[in-house]
Formats: sequence, C-alpha cells, structure tokens
Amino acid sequence: MLQLRLRSLLVTPLLFTAFATGATQEAPAPTLQWTDAKRTVAKTVDALDAELADLSDAIWHHAELALRETKSSALLAKRLETEGFTLERGVSEMPTAWVASFGQGKPVVAYLAEYDALPGLSQTISAQVEARVPGAGGHGCGHNLFGAGSVGAGIALKRAMQAHKLPGTVRVYGTPAEEQGIGKVWMVRDGLFDDVDVCLSWHPSNENQVKMQPTKALRSFEVTFYGRSAHAAGAPWSGVSALDALEAFETGVNLLREHMPESARIHYVVTNGGAAPNIVPSSASIWLFTRGKDWPEQEQVYQHVMKIVEGADLMSWGEEHGNLELGFRPARVQDFTGLYHYNPNLPAARVMHANLTLVGPANYSVAEHEFARQIQKAFGVEARGMDAQITPFDPNAAPKPGGSTDVANISWVCPTIGLRVANWPAEIPAHSWASTAASGSTAAQRAMSVAAKVLACAGVDVLTQPELVSAARDAFAKSSAKFPYVSPVGPKDKPSLPSNMR
Ligand SMILES: [Zn+2]
Repeated sequence: MLQLRLRSLLVTPLLFTAFATGATQEAPAPTLQWTDAKRTVAKTVDALDAELADLSDAIWHHAELALRETKSSALLAKRLETEGFTLERGVSEMPTAWVASFGQGKPVVAYLAEYDALPGLSQTISAQVEARVPGAGGHGCGHNLFGAGSVGAGIALKRAMQAHKLPGTVRVYGTPAEEQGIGKVWMVRDGLFDDVDVCLSWHPSNENQVKMQPTKALRSFEVTFYGRSAHAAGAPWSGVSALDALEAFETGVNLLREHMPESARIHYVVTNGGAAPNIVPSSASIWLFTRGKDWPEQEQVYQHVMKIVEGADLMSWGEEHGNLELGFRPARVQDFTGLYHYNPNLPAARVMHANLTLVGPANYSVAEHEFARQIQKAFGVEARGMDAQITPFDPNAAPKPGGSTDVANISWVCPTIGLRVANWPAEIPAHSWASTAASGSTAAQRAMSVAAKVLACAGVDVLTQPELVSAARDAFAKSSAKFPYVSPVGPKDKPSLPSNMR
C-alpha cells in the first residue's frame, strides 16, 4: 500500500509543489556600495584576522564531537563576552549551547556558530591520508571555521552598530551537535528564534555562492532488535538471533531503495552486531538516516522503514513472536531528531549575494593554491586550486543532490539564508580527509574572513533598511504559510545520541 503511494510520488511531482520555496518573488534591489558602517566592518575583521585564525585553529585541534564541544563552545562564548555581548549559556538543555546578544530592540539579526567535529576523521594538515590522532574526530565539515567566522561577524557588526549608532540587536547563537542534527532543532522548539528578523547563516564550502537550494529533510534514529542468547554451536535451536533480525531488516531496507522517489535516501551504520560468534546475539543495533526532498516525502520513507522493522522482528522470532514467556521482546526504535527541508528567503539571499560581490572572494596566495592542487591530486579531482570566483546568483537553479542541516528548521520560523565561501579546494567534498586537512589551512582561514565580512555587511543592511526587513518578512510569510512548522521533537524530548556516539 505504502509502496504504491511512494511510486505515485514519482509520477505526480506536482503533489508537492505546495512546498516550493517561492523563488520568483520580487525583492528590492540590494545596495552594492561601501558605506561607512560597512567600512568599519571590513576594518574590524581585518584587525581581528589573526585572532579569528587562532580561534578556528584551536577548535580544529580540539575536534570535539557532538554535545561534548566543551572547550570549543567556551572559547567562542568567552570571546563574545569579552567583547561586551550578554551571554546565556546552557540553553535548551545543552551545556554547550548559548545565545550571545548585543544591543536592544528591533531589528534582530541572528548569526549561527557551529563547532562540532565528525567521528573518525582525524587528519593532519597535509595532502595525504594521515590521522593526527588515530580514531579521533576531525573537522571534515569545517565547523571550526563556521564558529570562529560567525563570532567575527558578530563582533564586526557590533562595532559598526556602536560606531554608527545603528538600531537593533545582533545575536550569535552557539549551536552544538549540528552533525547529529540536534542543536538548532531544540533551540527552535524552545522559541529562541521567534523574534529574529533575519537569520544570516554560512557554511564552509569549495565555492563562493549564495544558493536558494533546498536541503533534504531527515530523520535520525536507532533500531535495536532483541533475541535470546544460547551456545551458537551446542544449542543454536534454543537461540533467537537479534543479528538475524538486523540482517533481515537491512535486506528489507535495501529492497525498498529501488522503489523510493529518486530524491529520497536511506543510509545506516551497524552500531552493535553482537559480542562473539559463539554466542547467539541477544541484541543488535543499527543507526539510520531517512531523507526526502521535503518532510512529507521523508516521513513516507520513514513509515515504510517502520514496517520493515516489524517484518524483520517477525522473521527472526518465528512462532515465538509476541510470546513474552518465551523471551520475546519487540524491537525498540529510538528517534533522535528530525530536520525539515530548507525554506530559503529570496530578499535575504539577494542581499547576501550583493554583499559577497561587494567584499569579493578571498585573495589566496600562490602557496595556498599549490597546497590545494596537491590535495586535489591526492583526492583524484582536477588540480585547479582554490575557486577564486563568485558563482552567479540563480534563484531558479535546479536543486542538486545534497545533505541536510538543522539550519533548515530555523528557516521555517524566521527569514533565513546561507552563504558559502571557498574554504576547501574546488571539488573537494565535505566529510572527507581532504576537507578536514583543508579546514585547518591558511586558505580556509582567509576565506573565513571573507564570510565574516559578508555576514556583517549583510547585517548592516538588515539594521539600516526597514524595507529589506519587510520584504524578507513578506516572502517568509508567503513561503512558510504553505508548510506550517511543527517541531519534530516534543516538549519533553531531550537531546540524545546514538549508542556509538555516547
Ligand atoms: Zn556542516
């Protein structure tokens, strides 16, 4: 039944046009000139360059994983506090989450800082696969730059506000555990973005671009199957293998793939496959992501996967299925988080792009281009160095395959847009040894300063152009009305991690 519905999605794509992003809405032409306030921004970031590089370098070396970003989070929060921001730490039940705020009243500009690393990606700053600390985490998504760059933007806008008496509030949000899609989902649930006029985000990349690209919706969850242990050679007929259930489940999931919409994804890792071959495993666990082009598509895939859980459990227990006296225990599904698809804001995107054009891409050194080429050669992509061009803004560009982000959840509660700058060599993908190496390089830090300037200059526009704020609000009202946001996590849900990440 569900399979039929999934198929019908393929042939009736119009079903979901209601969730389109409204990319054709009109917006006022953005300012393209340097103003006094923007000059203050540029000067401030130039003066902070070395300090921001040190911050990003320290976080790159700490490489702390989700919800344990104690040192990284503290470094950034402390720097903002020293600058005169008011800090609220430990928000939304996460010790490493915070909100830093300066100024008062409207408009409210929000910047986002991320700082968590990825497990197992430890890497030296070199053009070869080489772990710095074997088995440890690494900044393969460049969140060391993301955090330090956004703090730089916050400080630069704050100093411009002071120097030029600009109205409003600038906030920097310390958002942990992005790689687990956690931090912002809880902060949105708790209403921390409800009064934000424009949220200006960014992310490290291999190109300089403002995109209207929607990201995929996602659910993260772990399924644990239970069995009954027995000697695997002496009395295998007495055992019920939880690992059999897990394997049957994987097979079911992989059969589903052929019949999913092409924009959907399922991926998984086995977090517990049993203890030893001579014991029939009494428990086995698997951690999955289901994704779709939007939340409803993702939910359909997720619901089908829930049926496969039941089927796999039935297969492994056989006639004992449901019989508690014989040791039956149903599979447990633990949901961690839900990410919506992105709702990008067109007026904010135009302003971000105008400021990217104004500031210009990073001016990489000869040595930085050369290091980029070495990484590209080692990774097997064209050795063309860093991308020092700006990709033209195209609000109607066809979406490309991509991942998910918890920034998307913010985009359903306030006008939100993201910027990408070339911190990594062209064509080097995120979450790789190569992007981890590049995230610690001077080229990456140079591009991070560009991001800080662009974000702060766009912030100046938000604070000084009421017509921009109202255009962003109108576009948001229109696009968000088509898809009312319901928090994927409940009021009593607490942030938690899969068993192999605790
Ligand atoms: Zn990331």
